[in-house]
Amino acid sequence: MNTTKLILSLAFAAILAGCQKPAPAPGAVDAARLQAAETNGEWLSYGRTYSEQRFSPLTKIDTKTVGDLGLAWHHEFDTDRGQEATPLMVDGVLYTTTAWSKVYALDARTGELKWSYDPKVDGSKGFDACCDVVNRGVAVWNGKVFVGALDGRLIALDAATGKEVWSVQTTDTSKPYTITGAPRVVKGKVLIGNGGAEYGVRGYLSAYNVDDGKLVWRFYMTPNPEGKPDGAASDKVLAEKAAGTWFGDGWKKSGGGGTPWDAMAYDPALDLLYVGVGNGTPWNRIDRSANNGDNLFVSSILALKPDTGEYVWHYQTTPGESWDYTATQQITLADLTIEGKPRKVLMQAPKNGFFYVLDRATGELLSATPYSQVTWATGVDMKTGRPIEAPGVRYESKPSLQFPAPFGAHNWHPMAFNPQTGLVYIPTQQVPFAYVNDGKYSYRHGSWNTGVDFLANALPDDKAQLAAVKAMMKGELVAWDPVAKKARWKVEHPYFWNAGVLTTAGGLVFQGSAEGQFAAYDAADGKKLWSYKTENGVIAAPMTYELDGEQYVAIMVGYGGAGALSSPSFLPDRPRLPGRLLVFKLGGKATAPAYELPEKIDIDLTGVSSPGDAQHGFALYHQNCQVCHGPNASGAYLPDLKRSQMLTTAEAFKSVVIDGASASRGMASFSRFLSPADAEDIRAYVLTEARKAKGQAQARANAKASAPARG
Ligand code: CA
Repeated sequence: MNTTKLILSLAFAAILAGCQKPAPAPGAVDAARLQAAETNGEWLSYGRTYSEQRFSPLTKIDTKTVGDLGLAWHHEFDTDRGQEATPLMVDGVLYTTTAWSKVYALDARTGELKWSYDPKVDGSKGFDACCDVVNRGVAVWNGKVFVGALDGRLIALDAATGKEVWSVQTTDTSKPYTITGAPRVVKGKVLIGNGGAEYGVRGYLSAYNVDDGKLVWRFYMTPNPEGKPDGAASDKVLAEKAAGTWFGDGWKKSGGGGTPWDAMAYDPALDLLYVGVGNGTPWNRIDRSANNGDNLFVSSILALKPDTGEYVWHYQTTPGESWDYTATQQITLADLTIEGKPRKVLMQAPKNGFFYVLDRATGELLSATPYSQVTWATGVDMKTGRPIEAPGVRYESKPSLQFPAPFGAHNWHPMAFNPQTGLVYIPTQQVPFAYVNDGKYSYRHGSWNTGVDFLANALPDDKAQLAAVKAMMKGELVAWDPVAKKARWKVEHPYFWNAGVLTTAGGLVFQGSAEGQFAAYDAADGKKLWSYKTENGVIAAPMTYELDGEQYVAIMVGYGGAGALSSPSFLPDRPRLPGRLLVFKLGGKATAPAYELPEKIDIDLTGVSSPGDAQHGFALYHQNCQVCHGPNASGAYLPDLKRSQMLTTAEAFKSVVIDGASASRGMASFSRFLSPADAEDIRAYVLTEARKAKGQAQARANAKASAPARG
């Protein structure tokens, strides 16, 4: 080989080496990549990018091709509780979570399991989860995967192996804090909030260093009950703006609530972090704040500096919140032209039923319009930014039957904004609720603390009345024009408990549903273009990604969440089935096996009786049990107590309710709140409901047997 040849071959080898891009380290997400994803098809963060629009620019699957969408692969999980997560796709790997905060990494092309991680949350922690033991997903950053566990831990995993890198307890474990929301990462800090405002906690947002889990800053959403500073980023603004908006002592026992359990977004140009804040504890302001004051920063949107947690501005959607009207719902950033002017806006459809458009630099209110049925307020005063409350809605002297319910006109189910149509696709919920002041309320540590008497929302015995209540409820997919402030089209769902949304540059809107259908609609007019039967309920939001030129659409299926737990009578009567991740592509020919349906067990109540006081049991049941087992023991999602074997003897019932025999499955002992005699009174009440249900079933069977045969 002569010298020239050698040089040439060396140069050629160097060129070749230069062409071979080094394989990226797994999970190598950083600020530049997240910024670039605003215009490419990656899905790197919970709401896809920092703007949380849930709009993908991918176009391979569009209004013309979507009819050819078929299953590419699926993965079945080991839990049949609610699935609320949005998977992330980073460098060919899908990262998702299931109920009980478990994390999975799967090959995004084939579904092959790369690793899984179980934080081994104590089952009894299910007691503190108002709204199922769900988790909405992970954050990925610089080779690590971050998950907030139900028990309040923030855990960093190695993105390549799933091995724990660090773990930090973000909450006081003596209090009923939970985490269900997805962390976000901004400027090398992983941000995590918490939940628990139905029980009695003080909400806050924390920022931890991604490398070692050290706390960088914390921002409390309510003043310190002991009247002293926390040594936190929130001290100054709480003293200046919030402390004077709280009255009485109720909130000092409960912590006041204000848990930021879901929404976050970030604007890198303005360098502002936005966070949505939850309801007050107790719900009822009469008991929380001597029926006085705005109670900052409950039910507010806050803008903070991500480096320090320093307060920049806030907007309170529901001053003096008294109805579980959280402002934790998705925060979406977009550029809109309003009255001829380009505006950098922040949009939110919180539980209270008004769609808010704010200037995200200043917090200035640009519009607030009802996007669903709203009776608690007649509008929002644009001068003051405050809602105009309808008379009697604070249920001070008599009950107030109003819309929305605590389920919210929109809940955590993600909405999506499509910059091409200019529409926000919102999964809305129309549900009434009777707010009744619980005149006997007193704080009970660790229990539900609402100050609302749930007896009033027991189901009516009268069938016509029950049907009338049901007729008032519905779920809708609403295509909302945030500039014209009106709906462009709607798709009505038979059940109110709704599902998350995705929209794409292919002119599509994807959404699942309670009855298990996963569908694609035309983003322009709502026409259904494609659907797939998942054979399970869907509440999570779909996502989409591209690999090797192929576009995929993924969705977590599995029913659950607050609606399924507490309103089973108004939702599909379905057995609890294992969660699945379904992934679709054009021409996909895979099939998912049919679910094995669990047998409906009947119990023999012959000779079963209780010396308990059923009437007392009725009251105790609705105070302690109904949020998970449904009003009037109607539960089917969490065990239907009317069909439970433990009902047949006092000993069996006591072993679960008082002795905690089922604690590992989420049913912790109620001995803190109930005596053995109370438990027996509840058993006596549930027995009457069980006998009633058996009688109704028998009557239906008799009617069927005596009906003339149809030809
Ligand atoms: Ca709440």
